Amino acid sequence: MRFDIATLFPESVDSWLSESVIGRARAAGLFTAECHNIREYTRDKHRRVDDTPYSERQGMLMQCEPIYRCWQGICNMTRSQPHVIYMSPQGKTLTQQRCRELAQLPHIMILCGHYEGVDQRVLDRIVDEEVSIGDYVLTGGELPALVLIDSVVRLLDGVLAQPDCYEDESHYSGLLEYPQYTRPEVWEGEAVPPVLLSGHHANILRWRREQALITTAKKRPELLEGQDLSGEDLAIITNVIGSFDKK
Ligand code: SAM
Repeated sequence: MRFDIATLFPESVDSWLSESVIGRARAAGLFTAECHNIREYTRDKHRRVDDTPYSERQGMLMQCEPIYRCWQGICNMTRSQPHVIYMSPQGKTLTQQRCRELAQLPHIMILCGHYEGVDQRVLDRIVDEEVSIGDYVLTGGELPALVLIDSVVRLLDGVLAQPDCYEDESHYSGLLEYPQYTRPEVWEGEAVPPVLLSGHHANILRWRREQALITTAKKRPELLEGQDLSGEDLAIITNVIGSFDKK
């Protein structure tokens, strides 16, 4: 899988993509990421990439031409038409389900806006999808782009040790994860649940499912709506939150 990131701050993005789990996966060739400085695509002699909005608003907007030329450069260099994502607070909020779908794509270009945003005309011309990381506004699209890349890359083969590292995690199946424990067995008088020390695989699996349901019912009950729940699941949930109306 390949990412091309169009940004005014390529060094910051590249540096983060060189660290930890994601950095190791990149170094091992499990995915490719290249950062492109939009400023290098301007024809302006002062290397300007922004100008004032026509709407008489304060602030600056990123201009069409450097972004369009950057996109053309990426298409020519890679001889492919990437799926183009503009990171934007106006986009659909990123979910684990969307990350799974994006992880199937061979080539994604991410456009990071800055200042007051981007001239609409170039968005209309090149963007396939706008993605938001939540209903709040940041100063630039670089952190959102990194959030998207991190959450997609960790789903690629070989990035985490085993698929169950992410398959049991919160949101993958629609539930939140069950509580986790590590050594020591007793800490400050608090013991690890005995079933986890039993070595009984089937009981441990049952416990995990039960705890995932309980955790979800307590913390994010709305996530249970639309889930495929058995009678046993419903009994567990009802125990925690009194009554549950399965929609
Ligand atoms: N004026 C724009 C609006 O109201 O929709 C917001 C511009 S914001 C200050 C600058 C850039 O940050 C955006 O172009 C976008 O790339 C990025 N950005 C800000 N908040 C974001 C969010 N919640 N999700 C994704 N990208 C975001």
